[in-house]
Amino acid sequence: MASTSVDSQSLEHDLTLAQAAVTKQGDEVRALKASVKEGKAEKAQVDAAIEQLKQLKASLDLKQKEFQSSSGKTSSTNREAFRAVVGEALQRRLFYIPSFQIYGSVAGFYDYGPPGCALKQNITQCWRQHFILEESMLEVECPAVTPEVVLKASGHVDRFTDLMVTDVVTGDCHRADHLLEAALQSLLEGKPKPLSSEEKQEVHNVLATVEELTGEQLGDALQKYGVQAPETGNDISRPFPFNLMFRTSIGPRGDQVGYLRPETAQGIFVNFKQLLYYNGGKLPFAAAQIGQSFRNEIAPRAGLLRVREFTQAEIEHFCNPDAKDHPKFQSVAQEQPLLFSRELQMSAEKLPQAMRLGDAVSQGIIANQTLAYFIGRTYLFLKRIGIDPKRLRFRQHLANEMAHYAEDCWDAEVECSYGWIECVGLADRSAFDLRAHAAKSKQDMSAYEPFPEGPRMADVLVVAADKREIGKTYKRDAKAITEALESLSEEDKACMQADLAAGKACKVTLADIDYPINTSMVQIKQERKKLSGRSFIPSVIEPSFGVGRIIYCMFEHCFDTRKEDEKRTFFHFTPVVAPVKATVFPLLQKPAFIEKAQSVAALLTSAGLSTIIDSSAASIGKRYARTDEIGVPYAVTIDHQTLEDSTVTVRDRDSTTQVRISITNVKQVLPDLMEGRTWASMQQEYPVHASAGDEK
Ligand code: AMP
Repeated sequence: MASTSVDSQSLEHDLTLAQAAVTKQGDEVRALKASVKEGKAEKAQVDAAIEQLKQLKASLDLKQKEFQSSSGKTSSTNREAFRAVVGEALQRRLFYIPSFQIYGSVAGFYDYGPPGCALKQNITQCWRQHFILEESMLEVECPAVTPEVVLKASGHVDRFTDLMVTDVVTGDCHRADHLLEAALQSLLEGKPKPLSSEEKQEVHNVLATVEELTGEQLGDALQKYGVQAPETGNDISRPFPFNLMFRTSIGPRGDQVGYLRPETAQGIFVNFKQLLYYNGGKLPFAAAQIGQSFRNEIAPRAGLLRVREFTQAEIEHFCNPDAKDHPKFQSVAQEQPLLFSRELQMSAEKLPQAMRLGDAVSQGIIANQTLAYFIGRTYLFLKRIGIDPKRLRFRQHLANEMAHYAEDCWDAEVECSYGWIECVGLADRSAFDLRAHAAKSKQDMSAYEPFPEGPRMADVLVVAADKREIGKTYKRDAKAITEALESLSEEDKACMQADLAAGKACKVTLADIDYPINTSMVQIKQERKKLSGRSFIPSVIEPSFGVGRIIYCMFEHCFDTRKEDEKRTFFHFTPVVAPVKATVFPLLQKPAFIEKAQSVAALLTSAGLSTIIDSSAASIGKRYARTDEIGVPYAVTIDHQTLEDSTVTVRDRDSTTQVRISITNVKQVLPDLMEGRTWASMQQEYPVHASAGDEK
């Protein structure tokens, strides 16, 4: 299966390239035709370009057919078989296992075992290096238990829901959209009977919009297709919203409601003012947090992909809404990830295209440089940790998929045996989050920037609150109400001014209490004033990484089998990710060999490489196979010759070839290999060791 999937992936890539070539040549033909009109080119040049376009189209056509027939062959049975083999290798070597197994486990929770922990640590460390250190971000660590007010402000208490249905007899719960999707999928597979082509088209259309259906529409669709509870075949209820947060209470009286955070982002937003101050009051800046998030998923499934507790790594980049250029954009402008824009998703071919990020911004496909910069950095990060770039695409949210306040959103989706999986969400969320917290907490969440060209005259709205009048009506609360009026944003001042003028009801809300305001309490007038800068609520660009999903997809992309023996599996992890960097093998279990192994392992550990010693009695071939299974990139073997001339053999996991080097070189050479030195250069510099039968 591994090879079938890879074949179809490289075909898809070829297809994408062929498509890009046709588009480019089409542009060329159009440009040449325009030049002929202006007398700047010959007609013969146009004819030649058209001829070339025809050839490219024919080749595209061929590739399309080839791709279609190959994707038909990559059946779901193959995918499941592949997944079972990878899963077996992962669980057997304790990369991760279901939690609480001796008590029968609880769905949606997993434990990482020793190699899984090390690998996850390496990935988060690599993320910290790639984003926090290289971008000078401000890292924070906030509690997972969060008081209700924070998540009320963010909208999670009211809106963080999935639609659920229950089995009317057993009470079992199911995700309504999943049930509908499964039912539509089996209709398409001809179960219980083959569909006509019109019926097929209709089912396809519903399937494509399942995620956008309201509860009402979803209920109607479930009814229309006669969907029943899986396994029992009982009737199901109408869909109803289920909040995904785990509720808890804080403190011994149990009267303060709290939740386990469903994302790490809110911890950053509530600290915005402090972080801005820490950053010297200057924008833009980014803050980041790595930590656990909790979602009480209705139907946890697909191993690490949909769980109830997972690690997130989130960045909130705060910037002036009118200045979303990024100073380091040029460093990624030439990168060409596969982009699956809205337009491409609506096209007949529905295929992503490799595109320069610089072009995507200049053509208005990605909304701004900062969002594109983070797409570029995410692309480089995922490649660095071993995600195959041919199976990675950035998919833009369709207009109806985006929250009303969002300016533009893209998901980094990685293809694995479960299909295309959203691993990172990248969104320009405008000023939504800070505004929401400003409104709820009544705290100022604005930033101030001086005008670069110096002070200027401008018309501003000035609030004149009548303290006596407010005091008469609101007594003890008057001071807070006056302060709230005086700190209204420009936008709110304009709204209140218009409402008061139109005789509409106005109010100030403090701690959930509304205080009506009228024209005797406040006057809002326009005045011309000298301003040296302006205050605004910053925009937020948010890349949000799901660490577990990335790790699982990376496992699948790095999984391999030896050509000569399919049962011998290994992971070709990049050195930066590999849970262990080197294993040292004493060829024999004799004290002289073991002592040497210990001193070589100590050398490597002191050079910062995590190293293990395998001195078990199994044959060296079996021991190599065992270390390959957890993806250790290099093996160092102490053999008879070591005792004579202080040399060891170093074996490369991927090619299984070996070279011989002196122990004094080990400390330098292995770190070089970790840093990217190629194995080919090692083979050129050091004598090749013929591994007579070692691999058996
Ligand atoms: P979201 O806030 O829903 O956009 O999620 C941000 C990221 O968290 C996603 O891109 C996923 O990688 C990850 N994620 C969300 N829900 C889950 C889950 N139930 N299990 C594992 N990862 C998740």
